[in-house]
Amino acid sequence: MGLFDRALNLLRSNEEKAPAQKPGRNDACWCGSGKKYKKCHLPEDEMKAAKACSLNCGPT
Ligand SMILES: [Zn+2]
Repeated sequence: MGLFDRALNLLRSNEEKAPAQKPGRNDACWCGSGKKYKKCHLPEDEMKAAKACSLNCGPT
């Protein structure tokens, strides 16, 4: 075990916060808050997706 392994584990634990499969807008949020997805994490997820796209896709 070295620093590299610990960094990898950190990355993996961060990824676990994100859902493998997104719920529908009117379904319960994946975070377990009991709120609808659109009232909870949907804006945050969309913002992250938009950021990832601006990084990966370049300016539009
Ligand atoms: Zn949520």
